[in-house]
Amino acid sequence: MNSKRSKYETVFKNLFFFPGYNITDLQDTESQVFIILEKVGSPKCPKCGSVNSPIEESYPRIVRDLNLRNKQSYVMFEENKIRCSCGYRGIEYLDFVRPYSRCTKELEDAVAMCTSRMPLTDAAAIWGLDWKTVKDIDKRSIQDRMIDLKTLNPTMIGVDEIAYQKGHHYLTIVRDIPARRVIWIGLKRKTATLDEFFTELGPEKSRNITVCCMDMWDPYIASVKKNTTADIVFDKFHIIKKVNEAVDKVRKKVFAQSDKSTRKEMKHKRFLILHRRKNLTEDEDIECLDQILESNKPLYTAYVLKEEIADIFDDVNADRETIRLEQWFKNVSDSGIEEFTPVVSMIKNYIYGVLNYFKHKLTNAGSEGFNNKINVIKRAAFGFRDIEYFKLKIFQRCGGI
Ligand SMILES: [Zn+2]
Repeated sequence: MNSKRSKYETVFKNLFFFPGYNITDLQDTESQVFIILEKVGSPKCPKCGSVNSPIEESYPRIVRDLNLRNKQSYVMFEENKIRCSCGYRGIEYLDFVRPYSRCTKELEDAVAMCTSRMPLTDAAAIWGLDWKTVKDIDKRSIQDRMIDLKTLNPTMIGVDEIAYQKGHHYLTIVRDIPARRVIWIGLKRKTATLDEFFTELGPEKSRNITVCCMDMWDPYIASVKKNTTADIVFDKFHIIKKVNEAVDKVRKKVFAQSDKSTRKEMKHKRFLILHRRKNLTEDEDIECLDQILESNKPLYTAYVLKEEIADIFDDVNADRETIRLEQWFKNVSDSGIEEFTPVVSMIKNYIYGVLNYFKHKLTNAGSEGFNNKINVIKRAAFGFRDIEYFKLKIFQRCGGI
């Protein structure tokens, strides 16, 4: 009997371990448990660790702890304000709770585990806490785990912009491409914005960057040219997207004249035209696509041009790609399809970054997955008026911590 009892005692002592305190009492209500603590020894200075500081003031403090089965549990104790000889004046150091927090560190960790995976309101509902408390916990937990840019040596970076608050504002996101994580976020999408990143990174490390992958956005290009000697690589997905838009314009034009039911049907078949042919797996889809193309000459030509350029970007030989691209420009010009003219101008204007793509074969890998994550974050919390928090959430969800 005694050995059993001491076993229980040991287990419970380990479970309810509050360093520097003994449990003197437990109070139990229908839905709550209160754990009453009493201090053992003297208060500790958080700055120098001294335990000889005189107490200025003592007052009761109550904080939420992890739930005990189906009950919310609270820890109650006397907290001391100290005046230390090291100059520190304020709340004593406590192992299990941070100054001014309403929750123990263990509860904060459990809440932060939830907020890294679900919306704030869900986490708040699970723990029976108000969302503001949960938000504060989430923010601090991310801040604590942020990787310092100064400790990193990125050599291949990707620069993206994302819109927030209904597209009125932008953030500039820098990612370490091989490490697949966000390493820096800045407000706006100007040259000065990206300049800030290079300033924070320092001139020496900036010069170690060999490749910078991005969209054809002149302010970013200017900053990269100014601060680095990196090869600027334009994302092939950006170019393919523009080509697809051109094909879609042709599709719309072709079917604008047809009757209503054909138009409606063609709208549903849009994906067949815009997908890579090699990615279509259903015989039915391929047959249907061939039917559409057979009966529409301009659309067929546009389609072939689109497949051609996508093939060029998939080629493994940079020299051959360059030759094929020249030929493609000629094919576009021969086709007379004017919807492609702006795309060709764009590629020609930024040809250096396209050739660099052939050389490095680097894309803002996972860019799509990244954008999906951003959209999830945006949806999860009221459009994120708190821009600092929005930035932290991006770091949290996109590998920055
Ligand atoms: Zn001290």
